[in-house]
Parts: sequence; structure tokens; C-alpha cells
Amino acid sequence: MCYQLITCPFCSLFCDDLLLQIPNDLSTLQIPNCPKAHGHFMQLTQNYQSLPKYRGASISLENAIQHAAYSLQKARQPLYAHLDTDVQGMQAVFSLMEITKGILDHDHGSNFLLALQKGGCIGTTLTEIRQHADLVLWIGKVDLTANWPRFLEKIGDRAQHVVLGEVIGLSATDSIPISEINILDCILILRALLKKRVVQVSQVAGLSLNDLENLLNRLRGSQYGVIIWEQIADVYLIQNLCELVQELSQFTYFSVFPLLNNPTAIQVCTWELGFPFRFNWLERRYDPWQYDGQRLLKTQEVDLLVWIAHFHPPKLPDTKILQLVFSPFEPLPTQSPNVLWVPVGMPGIDQAGQVCRLDQVVMLALHQICSLGLLSLSDVIEAIVYRMSQR
Ligand code: SF4
Repeated sequence: MCYQLITCPFCSLFCDDLLLQIPNDLSTLQIPNCPKAHGHFMQLTQNYQSLPKYRGASISLENAIQHAAYSLQKARQPLYAHLDTDVQGMQAVFSLMEITKGILDHDHGSNFLLALQKGGCIGTTLTEIRQHADLVLWIGKVDLTANWPRFLEKIGDRAQHVVLGEVIGLSATDSIPISEINILDCILILRALLKKRVVQVSQVAGLSLNDLENLLNRLRGSQYGVIIWEQIADVYLIQNLCELVQELSQFTYFSVFPLLNNPTAIQVCTWELGFPFRFNWLERRYDPWQYDGQRLLKTQEVDLLVWIAHFHPPKLPDTKILQLVFSPFEPLPTQSPNVLWVPVGMPGIDQAGQVCRLDQVVMLALHQICSLGLLSLSDVIEAIVYRMSQR
């Protein structure tokens, strides 16, 4: 029997050890222990729907392309967001932005970039963690079970784990369950203690100074420590974590490893445009505050939202403006009915593609493993651009 190794596209770990019997038959797919991948593959093959929908009613692909072209041409300032896609998907988005201009935002990782630009940060890779880390400090709420099912398998079992917050799916840890707002206080005190400053409080968020001294001794005494977080809204907290790592690096080796979704978009934006997110195409400049997509939607400074969600069902923001959604999955129900959904094929299922792994150092190939009969995002955007040129 002949098998082919394929890459799973359903989270940015992009595990490349799934086995598929040749000739490609999804029923033969062997997925290592991952309920998330299993559920998504089944959902794709069973709830497959190929007709676009406008305001909940099915329309033809021709009508959808026509409507999308008209809306894009009419838009004064479109917002391109989410960008859960592969390299080719991002390039297709850029080809559309050449014509429409607008704002490019990415709803994961922008806070990290904002903190990063203040003073840089020391990062690491999955392989380095696996081979060297002896201590992992988890910050905030992290849901490994739902979002990163095989992350622990990737980093191995060398390291001890300390949690400041909550990590779902991690057992055998020293866990200190505190909220994100209190974590910042703890980190500030740790930094003060590390610099031997006088600290005038006796406890922080239920932790005594003694507890924090002990934690600091563990961090400082490790051979190779890593700080991991999933989504932290507070840029100031991220900045403090980056600075704590720089300060700890005077005593030992320390680095950060944020669990970022959609890292491919971040990389392609940098290579192709020379700018990080959040980017104004017309002015050729980025500004993490001014071009924050959430803010622009609230202040109604944009009049069309283009949402790319190749690998997960789209969870759209609440807005009255037209949302033009490109995804293999039908968007989840929302308060705002003004949605035009155009189904597109998924890289790694209907077509080949390339993606960047979570640690942003490894590019992986996604293979076409079956055909659900959907056009690729590039093909759909090409058809829209053609239709725009005819008007
Ligand atoms: S951990 Fe992520 S990439 Fe790996 S098999 Fe599961 S869903 Fe796919």
C-alpha cells in the first residue's frame, strides 16, 4: 500500500505527519492524536456547500463575483482583515489592493508587533524549546486542547512548567491562577526584584513577596527558559514580558514564544511590502493604532470589510457595513446580516499552497488531497478583478 505524508492546515503548528493512501481518498486519512484536525476534516467533507450566499440566501457564483466587484469598486476605504490564509492567498489579496487600496490588518499578533517595535525581543523556535528548554512560564489563559492540540508533543517533555494564569490541556504544573490584569503587577514586581529595587508592597494578587522571590529564583536558575502566551490584549503586559526576558538573559538564556495564529500573513506582508501590519496601502505607511481594524469599524472609517478565513469558520465582527467573506466555511451566525459569503477552496485540501509555521522560521508545503470543486481564492479574486476592469 502506498502512502503520502501530508500537512494538516487546521492550526499554525502545521503538523506534516498525516498519512493519506494514494490515490487520494480522504477516508484513508490517518490523523495522529488530534481531535481538532479530525473534526475539521470531517466537517469539510460532510458539510460541504459550494454556492455563495448573500444575506443568507444562495446566489450563483457569477452573481456573487459581480456583486463583490461592484462593492469593491464603490468602496472608498475597504478594510482587509483576519487574513487566515497561505502565501498565494496573501498575494491575491495584494493584487486586489493594488486596485482598491484600503487598510490591511491582522487580528492576531498586532499587539505583539506593537510591543516588539518598542524595544525588540528575543524569540525562539519549537525545535529549540524541545532540545534546550528546562523551564516554561505560561502567561494568561491558553487553551491548548482547543487551539494547539499537539503543541506539548512538539516541545517534548524536558521542561518544567509554571503557569501564571490558566492552561487548558496541561497537567503536572505549578499553577498560579490569576487574571491578566494581576499578571502585569506580578511581572512588574518580578522585574523590580530582579533589579534589586525596594518593593513597598507585601503581596500582589494573593502572592506574597516570598512567593514572587521563589518564582524569580526559579526563572533565574533555569538553564533555558521560555515565556509562552496565547492572546494577550494588553500591549503593556507583552512589552513587560519582552523586557523581563531581556533582563533575565543577563543571568541565563531566556526567550519568548507567542502562540500566534495566521503567521503566514505576517511574514508575506513583511517580505512583499516591507512593512508590518497595520498598513495603509494608499499612504504606504503602517500605524498600529491608526489602522487598527476594530477601531476603524467602530468609528466607521471603513465602508467595506473583506474577511479571509481559509482554515477556520469565520467569526465576523459586529458591523453594519457589507462583509465580503472568502472562506470554505459558511460564516458563523452574526448580528449583522449584511454578509456576502463566497466559498473558496482550502489550501491543503482543494489545492496546494505554502504556509509559515507558528515559530515563523519554517515554510511548509500544503498538498492538494481531494477536490471539493471550489475555486481557489486567487481564481475568485482574478475573476473579480476582471469584472472590475469591464465596468
Ligand atoms: S495540532 Fe494543529 S496542525 Fe497538528 S494535527 Fe492538530 S490541528 Fe492539525
